[in-house]
Amino acid sequence: MRTIIEPFRIKAIEPIRMTSPQERERLIREASYNVFLLPARDVLIDLLTDSGTGAMSAEQWAGVMRGDESYAGSDSYYRFENAVKDIFGFSHVIPTHQGRAAERILFSTVCKAGQTVPSNSHFDTTRANIAYVGADPVDLPCPESKALADPHPFKGDMDLQALERLIEERGRDNVPLVMLTVTNNSGGGQPVSMGNIRATAKMCRRYDLPLYIDACRFAENAYFIKQREQGYADTDLIDIAREMFSHADGCTMSAKKDGMANIGGFLASNDPQVASEGRNLLILTEGFPTYGGLAGRDLEAVAIGLYEALEHDYQHYRIISTAYLGRHIAEAGVPIVQPPGGHAVYIDAASFCPQIAALEFPGIALTVELYREAGIRAVEIGSVMFGHVDAGTGEERAAANELVRLAIPRRVYTQSHIDYVVEAIVNVFGRRESLGGYRIVEQPPFLRHFSARFEPL
Ligand SMILES: *Cc1c(COP(=O)(O)O)cnc(C)c1O
Repeated sequence: MRTIIEPFRIKAIEPIRMTSPQERERLIREASYNVFLLPARDVLIDLLTDSGTGAMSAEQWAGVMRGDESYAGSDSYYRFENAVKDIFGFSHVIPTHQGRAAERILFSTVCKAGQTVPSNSHFDTTRANIAYVGADPVDLPCPESKALADPHPFKGDMDLQALERLIEERGRDNVPLVMLTVTNNSGGGQPVSMGNIRATAKMCRRYDLPLYIDACRFAENAYFIKQREQGYADTDLIDIAREMFSHADGCTMSAKKDGMANIGGFLASNDPQVASEGRNLLILTEGFPTYGGLAGRDLEAVAIGLYEALEHDYQHYRIISTAYLGRHIAEAGVPIVQPPGGHAVYIDAASFCPQIAALEFPGIALTVELYREAGIRAVEIGSVMFGHVDAGTGEERAAANELVRLAIPRRVYTQSHIDYVVEAIVNVFGRRESLGGYRIVEQPPFLRHFSARFEPL
């Protein structure tokens, strides 16, 4: 069969509200042309993020009812710990309320000011937590990742030559650990191959450096390995995941992604010292080591969700549904980052509307137009998010790329919703020459994309 269907049926529904073009015109103006400032109730299809926005299964909701809210040593904690140990294989498990809490604990225990932490690409919260302890986060993505339109199968890989050069230059003692983000979120949701994980681990062993994996989308990465890497076609996703983590010394995880939950995360490690220092920090800000800032019911939802993310039918549907969106807009001529990632499709807004200069924010123009056209909320990943004012000259600097991300929440939207999104994007592409740029009229000093206000030029 060629028709894509959801490998689940619907038990509870949540209405979404259609708005008229006139209403949307008013709403987007009132939101100062920044979709972050739109109330969610005025959005029809919300593709802002795949983080914590997924739908839970009947089994997870049953787990929520089973949640044991004992302060110490709850049954829910042991079920959570068993699931994490079974899949990830690390000997110590520390629950946290989100991925960034696991990052903060890891970097405050292993990292000192002046040190360097290399990665294929750090996620923004990882980068911020490394910088917070005075260390230097460095991205070493493979050269293939830079050609946006080139469909290389593993554009998330680490550049191993660059890693070796960096360790030699800065000195082994100035590198506390090496990180690998799977899939590589900042690089377009692109996967990391098992070969690259293995080779990175081998280099880490040669220098006696620990390897930690940012595991947020580990199940999507496992599916890409099964699909694209020789020797894995007949291996179950859970065994691919176990092999991925067998090469590492620990991981940080946001359960809001492939934990299939709305909140949660963990730090896992084979290092008893990281575990004991980590638990001390955990008690300070997150909670007792058997709940770490989560309710027992949340631990249950994650324990069940981690296995559901590894179900072949689910992951197959997720990846081909995202690829379907990418393929259908690309066939209509829309420039996208190739191949489509696991959790999102990225439109190259600079090529979509070349008449708009980078510092007139083509990504903002496109997100505004998608909302006007069809009530769809996407997010700019370009010069508003990553551009900055040069401290020396005071001049505005553009980002490397002007992208618009369409992130797909897990198990939330159906294929007909995806068809609707395709039609909307193709319609906007048809009148792309009429799109104009924007200027910022008000912005905060940090993370300006969340609250900046714009005006059409
Ligand atoms: C979301 C994310 C994080 C941070 O997790 P939170 O739960 O949002 O704190 C870290 N790394 C990657 C790759 C992510 O996608």
